[in-house]
Amino acid sequence: MTAYDETCIFCKIANGEFDTDFIAESDNVVAFNDINPVAPVHVLIIPKIHITSVHELGDEHQRIWNELLVTTQAVADKLGVTDSGYRLVTNAGANAGQEVPHLHIHLLGGKKLGSLG
Ligand code: 5GP
Ligand code: ZN
Repeated sequence: MTAYDETCIFCKIANGEFDTDFIAESDNVVAFNDINPVAPVHVLIIPKIHITSVHELGDEHQRIWNELLVTTQAVADKLGVTDSGYRLVTNAGANAGQEVPHLHIHLLGGKKLGSLG
């Protein structure tokens, strides 16, 4: 696994190449608004290193996974959806509709969300 994949849009975003406005940033994680939001709050939380999907996570990534979740909580608090509630989604592979092969958590909120499926 390489830390930076030069063909990956999320590696470029995490590396600051698009001057993206980060909602939160920590040592190993950044969070930013989805370019095509499906809810009033739609944030992507990603590791700075290139990990293809949640399925690629191993023991060596425990700290990063924890940081992803802690950052997600911080984003929910910052954007005011903690009390109203929110949903986390991470797609892995074709049947889930994963478009960007760099691990990301979608944080969705700000409205009553539909059922899963
Ligand atoms: P996936 O389908 O892989 O789970 O989700 C990919 C998400 O990334 C989509 O919701 C899409 O709108 C978002 N996305 C794709 N390219 C960009 C981009 O360049 N910037 C931002 N902010 N979001 C992107
Ligand atoms: Zn990447």
